[in-house]
Amino acid sequence: MSRKDLDFEAYRTRLLARRVELEAECDATAQDRAAVEVDQQRMGRLSRMDALQSQAMAQELERHRQIELLHIEQALKRMDEGDYGYCTACDAKIPVRRLDLDPSVPLCVKCAGKAEHHH
Ligand SMILES: [Zn+2]
Repeated sequence: MSRKDLDFEAYRTRLLARRVELEAECDATAQDRAAVEVDQQRMGRLSRMDALQSQAMAQELERHRQIELLHIEQALKRMDEGDYGYCTACDAKIPVRRLDLDPSVPLCVKCAGKAEHHH
């Protein structure tokens, strides 16, 4: 059953806007994540290391973006199925305050805490 205490349209609007934003960031940073060309002639050892480091950072940011995009897709799907607002692990109601902070959040505070400990 879907929750009467949630403003689904407001959350959906925010999720869709955030998805557009993330996809734009993906596109804008594609170049930074591309394989670093090691040109021995033109690039010194230090600038090669710099390039590899910023590439690694760009890839890490991208990884986080992809996880967030996945959470957004899943949240939108749960809205369609009427499961939105419930923890995907224990079915507890996720507090409105938590959803207001991040409408894509899939877990209640307790389960999110448990998931953290597994890392
Ligand atoms: Zn839970």
